[in-house]
Amino acid sequence: MKDSIKEQKLRVLESAGRVVIKVGSAVLTAEDGLDLRVINRLADQICLLHDRGVDIILVSSGAVAAGCKVLSTCKAKSDLVFKQATSAIGQSRLMHAYDEVFGRYKKVTAQILLTREDLNSRERFINARNTMLQLLSWRAIPIINENDTVAVQELKFGDNDALAALILNLVEADLFINLTSAEGVFSDNPLEQPTAERIRCIEDISSAPIEIMCRGKTKQGSGGMYSKLLAARKAAQLGVPTLILSGTERFCLEKAFEGHDIGTWIMPCEKAISSRKFWFAYNLEPGGVIEIDKGAAQAVFEKGKSLLPAGIIGVKGEFGKGALVRIIERDSSRNPAVGLINYNSSELRKIMGKRSSEIEDLLGECLYPEAIHRDNLLLEAIGL
Ligand code: GLU
Repeated sequence: MKDSIKEQKLRVLESAGRVVIKVGSAVLTAEDGLDLRVINRLADQICLLHDRGVDIILVSSGAVAAGCKVLSTCKAKSDLVFKQATSAIGQSRLMHAYDEVFGRYKKVTAQILLTREDLNSRERFINARNTMLQLLSWRAIPIINENDTVAVQELKFGDNDALAALILNLVEADLFINLTSAEGVFSDNPLEQPTAERIRCIEDISSAPIEIMCRGKTKQGSGGMYSKLLAARKAAQLGVPTLILSGTERFCLEKAFEGHDIGTWIMPCEKAISSRKFWFAYNLEPGGVIEIDKGAAQAVFEKGKSLLPAGIIGVKGEFGKGALVRIIERDSSRNPAVGLINYNSSELRKIMGKRSSEIEDLLGECLYPEAIHRDNLLLEAIGL
């Protein structure tokens, strides 16, 4: 790792005032359920940071795994109802373990269970944010998990890595620490390739070939390394650096904060996107797809222009005005963009391919010359 990056990393670790720490099931659970020794060790280190004045938000998995152990059955793990019911058993045990261990350090914990739906309404997002900020002002440690009991497949965040990325925006975090069972990101599958090396730093995650990097790697927890890198990519877009660390390594957090070279450091993008863009791109569910031609793609993707109806060559799905839509260039491998659309799908079908000056004739009025304003566009939409 370059010296300048080392220094920058140390500066971030020293100055971070609000840190989101995500810990996966593979770290927290052992053969016979929750691994209380690991939870103890992590709490000890988290409390040290907290005593230094750092706000900590913990995103913790482990409810399903803990519930499985209580029932002494781990079969049917992919069955949704099974997961929902086991998480109901496991979540209270998980929180009980955290409450007890943090209580020994005189720290107050607070359970927050969220579904995707809770964060895709701006109002509920703000409510969740206010609650979180109040808890932090009381110096409590919010412990967040997905509300598995009610989350059905299409409403799921995907996994807790994706949820943690949304939380970074919700609490305006300075740093994201993702504790996993691996020692970081490796150049190859370390279980199959003894020569595989730990990647110490990813300078530009936005262009790193993460699909290739993760091919054939062990899938730990529900997300695996791929979802950790996707979450890190979103964090970087928001201007937040990520440290992927082994949560089972003794003193992992202490060592990292002392400047030891452990885990994988993922640098933030130089130009962060706004919290508002991040919110609409990753909290809302895209309602349809807009196909655009080459000229429009150049204007939108390369020149940062708004999308005009003239460049639209296809509209898929039914959606209302203001919905989030994916924008793809037809017959191109370019990554999609997402944006908030000014017209509903049937209006758009009437005005696509037409000049903005024709909108009034076609629709009776022209409220907006553009289909999507550049302020409502996110060009590099990750994982959508
Ligand atoms: N919410 C799940 C649990 O607590 C875990 C989801 C995940 O690890 O991504 O078991």
